[in-house]
Amino acid sequence: MTTPTGSLSGTPVVPGVAAGPVLHVRGEVSPDAIARFGDGDFADADAALAAYDDAAGAVADTFTSKAASAQGAAAEVLTASAGLARDKGLRGAVNKNLQAGQGPVAAVQGAVDQFVTIFTTMGGLMAERVTDLRDIERRVVAHLVGEPAPGVPTPSEPSILVAEDLAPSDTSGLDPALVTALVTERGGATSHTAIIARQLGIPCVVGAAGIMELASGTFVVVDGETGTIELGADPDEARSRVEESRRLREELASWTGPAATLDGLPLKLLANVADGSSAESAGVEPVQGVGLFRTELCFLDQKNEPTVEEQADIYSAVLAPYADGRYVVVRTLDAGSDKPIAFATHEGEENPALGVRGLRLSFDNPGLMDRQLDGIAAAAKSTGTETWVMAPMVATVAEATDFAEKVRARGLKPGVMVEIPSAALLAHRMLEVVDFLSIGTNDLTQYTMAADRMATDLAHLTDPWQPAVLQLIAITAHAGKEAGKPVGVCGEAAADPLLATALIGMGISSLSMAARAVRPVGAQLSRVSLETCEAAAEAALGAPDPMAARAAVREVLGH
Ligand code: PEP
Ligand code: MG
Repeated sequence: MTTPTGSLSGTPVVPGVAAGPVLHVRGEVSPDAIARFGDGDFADADAALAAYDDAAGAVADTFTSKAASAQGAAAEVLTASAGLARDKGLRGAVNKNLQAGQGPVAAVQGAVDQFVTIFTTMGGLMAERVTDLRDIERRVVAHLVGEPAPGVPTPSEPSILVAEDLAPSDTSGLDPALVTALVTERGGATSHTAIIARQLGIPCVVGAAGIMELASGTFVVVDGETGTIELGADPDEARSRVEESRRLREELASWTGPAATLDGLPLKLLANVADGSSAESAGVEPVQGVGLFRTELCFLDQKNEPTVEEQADIYSAVLAPYADGRYVVVRTLDAGSDKPIAFATHEGEENPALGVRGLRLSFDNPGLMDRQLDGIAAAAKSTGTETWVMAPMVATVAEATDFAEKVRARGLKPGVMVEIPSAALLAHRMLEVVDFLSIGTNDLTQYTMAADRMATDLAHLTDPWQPAVLQLIAITAHAGKEAGKPVGVCGEAAADPLLATALIGMGISSLSMAARAVRPVGAQLSRVSLETCEAAAEAALGAPDPMAARAAVREVLGH
């Protein structure tokens, strides 16, 4: 057999180099086993339903026990999957199919298909859950027909895990010593695969077309910074590249601040937080404060709007760890679209990402914003923490003006997010009415490229390295420099060490990111001068596409 050569490429999401044989995830339940099982010989539909209950219960229990040994985001997604396996609506749909005379396997597959259609139509976070539903389907069917559960086979040597897309249950409990990188054919930068890879600290490439065609055991070298998967590389040379990358990652993780460029320009690195506990744990990292407190995440499960006092307590828990002279940027409710909140979101919108979300909720419900600002002001007063407040989804200068007035009336510092291209193009006028801007590159990319940020097939478009997105960031940063006012970045782009250099070079004054990203970004910035950052910005802005932009910046940095 000849060794395959050449390379494949995808969207790089977690940097680092790994090499090893391809290991495929055991996907579908064997069709032979399903055929042998047939309709399962049950006395009636109720007996078949009891077998479904057994299977779904066992699958849910597996998720729950995996959740118990996982941590953070991984534990949360597994617990959610356990809930989905026990879902009454899903059970009802299975029962309906059984009562209509279908066999158990067909009844489960039909019910899941029905839910997949519903979730896909809802879009956003719900569409991301389709992978979880399909995973539940495979597991329940495997249990019914008596096959081993699908998933990741235990590797006998350090391997590169390859799959079409990965469900949380596939990736929980992975040993990073044995699974040294993840590569998927589908999936975007915000998919579960990316989240889990970041948590495990292993390189990851998503959206790699053609990867599923590689035979198990094929030796590949994965580069999570360039997004390439090399075939036919020399194993000795690959080993030394892997070793060098491991050494570099260790060095990056040991960076402790304070943030500055090589030539001593002080930089501001901030954390993105969701509640009191994430604010507290981020506070011990080398950060100068919080650059994005996503307040809506505190209310995802609440049916009714909390009172001003209740809100003040919740916000105080986030502000308190930063009362030591640091500051917190609180974002007002960004409810709607991918973050539905029972007491705020408008129901039944045709196109919620372009609908009444974020600041727009206050158009017909100004009290909602007023009460939230009162809660924030009370928390700022009781904790004594310097508090900035910004609104999401601002499209016009008039919206920014109204918002700034309300925030200033409460003695706080007003700003707006730049997430809509109109706000970037009007950044200079926005800065006449507010004190700071913060660029949300996740939505700015979505709206600039007209590509749903959650769509797993559009990862090449929902990439902040797209030239049009970089241009809008540069326009906004330039407006900040002219006005002498801060312009930060708080989307995922800030967590990319390579892109961070170009952002600083454009004149961005702070970078806010998930706490775990702070050290690699700080370490990278400490190795380059401002002049190099400016050259990186110029190189990125001049490139024709995202991959060329990454390559151009790498060249400037000498990577
Ligand atoms: C963004 O859009 O980049 C952002 C930071 O806001 P969110 O991800 O919460 O929409
Ligand atoms: Mg946003």
